[in-house]
Amino acid sequence: MTDCLFCKIINKEIPSEIIYEDQAVLCFKDINPVAPVHLLIIPKKHLRDLNSAEQADQSLLGRILLIMPKLAVEVGIAQSGYRVVANNGPDAGQIVEHLHFHLIGGQMSADFA
Ligand code: 5GP
Ligand code: ZN
Repeated sequence: MTDCLFCKIINKEIPSEIIYEDQAVLCFKDINPVAPVHLLIIPKKHLRDLNSAEQADQSLLGRILLIMPKLAVEVGIAQSGYRVVANNGPDAGQIVEHLHFHLIGGQMSADFA
């Protein structure tokens, strides 16, 4: 999608600190981290949010869920613990309308909502 920030990051039109990339998934550092480790994991396919996901996206979403614990090992927070957050829509505070999963760790979470 041409007018999407994260699609531009995928296409390297906007720079980012990439941690992991394969043909379907990209992981990069959040530009405004809320914890010592704050990564964003996104499908390269433009999906607005989880509401936009369809049955055909099952393996893509499963792939992302299975990549996240591996990334947690890589960045050293698998044992200390981490949060996975996907904000969907205005009430959740979603700002970037390209489905993304926040992987947050490296310190005790302030809340457990
Ligand atoms: P949301 O509120 O949509 O779930 O979160 C969007 C996230 O994207 C925020 O945590 C924000 O800091 C991050 N973000 C926004 N613009 C950029 C950018 O240009 N580069 C990177 N790496 N992260 C961004
Ligand atoms: Zn996009």
